[in-house]
Amino acid sequence: MTVVDLMSEAKMNVELRSKAIEKGRYELYNCFQCMRCTSGCTSMKLLELKPHQIVTMVKLGLIDELITSGIIWTCAMCLKCTERCPQDAAPSDLITVLRNLAFDMEANVPEAYLKVVSTVLEVGLIQEEQKVTSRDFEIYDRKELNLPKISKPGEIFKNNLLILLTPEED
Ligand code: SF4
Ligand code: SF4
Repeated sequence: MTVVDLMSEAKMNVELRSKAIEKGRYELYNCFQCMRCTSGCTSMKLLELKPHQIVTMVKLGLIDELITSGIIWTCAMCLKCTERCPQDAAPSDLITVLRNLAFDMEANVPEAYLKVVSTVLEVGLIQEEQKVTSRDFEIYDRKELNLPKISKPGEIFKNNLLILLTPEED
């Protein structure tokens, strides 16, 4: 679904807008729609993500539509939009806050992100150990390459990560 489709069915949610604005250190209301963010957006080239429209949607309180769509998850987090913004509106920071809100509200979080969290809890890395293929098409694991074992995350790390991931009480 495109941002334009979303806006055609949108309803303002003032409470969620306040949450999204309070949680970031950006100046959304300074945005004057110059589109410098969108003109340099990495994902725009592939996925038509338009950060200037996301800023406008948040200003209009159309948060539900953003967090239930897949749009906020197509961002590559390259931070170019925030670097290019002359008004400190920081679209990438805003997208991070929207993702956190989506997670808190259990709204349409892509399976791949949840898998990353469970892998970090299990093995301490964002993906499990992989085997590698040599130029001669031989396959090796870490042990065969004389690499040390990767240590599993400890209980303190796991508990702290779970605390960080637990939605805040209102
Ligand atoms: S967020 Fe910044 S760069 Fe993007 S349109 Fe607004 S002022 Fe311009
Ligand atoms: S951080 Fe996301 S929205 Fe900003 S330029 Fe990169 S891909 Fe686009």
